[in-house]
Amino acid sequence: LPEVSEIRVAMTADRVQRRIIAVGSGKGGVGKSTLTANLAVALARAGHKVGVVDADIYGPSQPVLLNVEGSKPKAREKQLIAVDTEYDVKLLSMGQLIEPGKAIAWRGPMTGGALTQMMEADWGDTELLLVDLPPGTGDIQLTMLQKFKPTMAVVVSTPQDLALIDATRALDLFRQAGVPVAGIVENMAGYVCPHCGEVSDPFGSGGAEAAAKALGEEFLGRVPLTMELRVASDTGQPPAANDGPQGQAFAGIARKVAA
Ligand code: ADP
Repeated sequence: LPEVSEIRVAMTADRVQRRIIAVGSGKGGVGKSTLTANLAVALARAGHKVGVVDADIYGPSQPVLLNVEGSKPKAREKQLIAVDTEYDVKLLSMGQLIEPGKAIAWRGPMTGGALTQMMEADWGDTELLLVDLPPGTGDIQLTMLQKFKPTMAVVVSTPQDLALIDATRALDLFRQAGVPVAGIVENMAGYVCPHCGEVSDPFGSGGAEAAAKALGEEFLGRVPLTMELRVASDTGQPPAANDGPQGQAFAGIARKVAA
């Protein structure tokens, strides 16, 4: 058996090597979880060893998105062990730690405790840990920023002005904490009508790209609003696992994030 000191050294080394990518948004419902899951799958396909921490206590949707709904993580001496998914991505989610369908009315310290348990779990050889943050700038975000110092952050927004105002706030929080922002992703851009092929823009168009420019941040890419993406998400089949147009869009974003 290794000496305790050796284990400590291994754990420290392990931590130093792991890069933490926080995925945030100002508003809920802009597609932050969808982007996180697909970005994780795209990064895994590009050869990275990837894990996802689902810290979105208000809507922990990663178990559905990555098709491990109902699976409970195992623990070894009180340390959680990340769950393997079929997409070569490991996962731990708030959704796996609570009973399905139960509302979470936790106070700050409890959510912080749950986040810490997930962050300090056994992630095996994971190199990139993507953290799906709850929307906004609350307790979880602060614990994440202060205690775990993400290597970088990705901000997701729709092109809508209201979402962009909140996205700017999320961005500001990362900047204040000294976390480098990799850039902004525009989700739910351009909807192609499946009947006539006409492209419409329910949430406007190009807003996130313009905001990225105005804020001096990189624009990481655009994901269109499609029925396929919604259906694939609900059935645990992230399009990033395939080479279709959406898979390619996520692969492009993943390349920029990994660069
Ligand atoms: P958030 O994590 O920001 O709350 P989600 O990723 O849960 O947002 O997305 C909110 C809803 O919108 C989900 O039902 C999801 O399937 C859907 N959705 C997200 N992005 C797209 C898209 N590009 N096209 C179609 N549906 C989308």
